[in-house]
Amino acid sequence: MASSGRTTVPTSPLVGAHVPVSGGLAKRGLAYADEIGAECVQVFVTNPRGWAAAKGDPLQDVAFRRIVTDQLPAYVHASFLINLGSPDPAIAEKSATSLAHTIERAWQIGARGVVVHTGSAVSKRRYDDAMTQTRDLLLPILDALPDNAPPVLLEPTAGQGQSLCSTLDELDEYLHRLGHHPRLGICVDTCHFFAAGHDLADDGGMNDFLDHLEKVRGTVPVGLVHANDSMDVVGAKKDRHMAIGAGHVGAEPFRHLLSHPTMQQVPLVIETPGNEAEHAADVALLKSLR
Ligand SMILES: [Zn+2]
Repeated sequence: MASSGRTTVPTSPLVGAHVPVSGGLAKRGLAYADEIGAECVQVFVTNPRGWAAAKGDPLQDVAFRRIVTDQLPAYVHASFLINLGSPDPAIAEKSATSLAHTIERAWQIGARGVVVHTGSAVSKRRYDDAMTQTRDLLLPILDALPDNAPPVLLEPTAGQGQSLCSTLDELDEYLHRLGHHPRLGICVDTCHFFAAGHDLADDGGMNDFLDHLEKVRGTVPVGLVHANDSMDVVGAKKDRHMAIGAGHVGAEPFRHLLSHPTMQQVPLVIETPGNEAEHAADVALLKSLR
């Protein structure tokens, strides 16, 4: 991703995890990262299933920022409730407000990107309206961001509901509608793209997918990977993550991902179920594949 030059650029992708922060961003989140051997982290800065704009704890913010600036690149995942394409004007407005707040918080804590889901039209006939609305809400937020603000990393979904963007063809259209804005990036969730119908488990499937992504993304960088296996088969349109190697994607495609030219400076975070030991195992497995 676009770097502000704060750290030396790694020669191979960093491997980390989404970490819990209840108990303090630094106190809990950084300790958890340490325990599981994470080289980068993703955190929530608000309740992921709510709208409330949490302020944060200044001491924890400072302690977190100090570490993530130099040693442990951090990313923020915005609320799951955000849907810029919602037909409900109140939800659309709350979505924009929540995203803007999350970017502000991400900046305060030294994060390098804010992941947000690409949203849903909710009703089938609304695709065009939903995309126009998404553009009208998102572009002013992006236009207001200075160059050193964390970019917004668009995360295509698994294709459930009337998803606006799940496949690479849909991502192509989505990026065009947003004018390939320079403050945008992409967050690739392997479980989501697999669920949306890209067969990453097929022989050569991951490389084909990433080659195709390289054409689609244009000037928009891939900022982050959510490395997740899938409980469901390819094309199932279900968003159910599994430990790496325990689902229908399997471990081997991640080896190809980790060596693909597009991904050489893109960090991976796992969002797999399980406890600390299981997360440590996922992180170790991914490190062994690079
Ligand atoms: Zn994800």
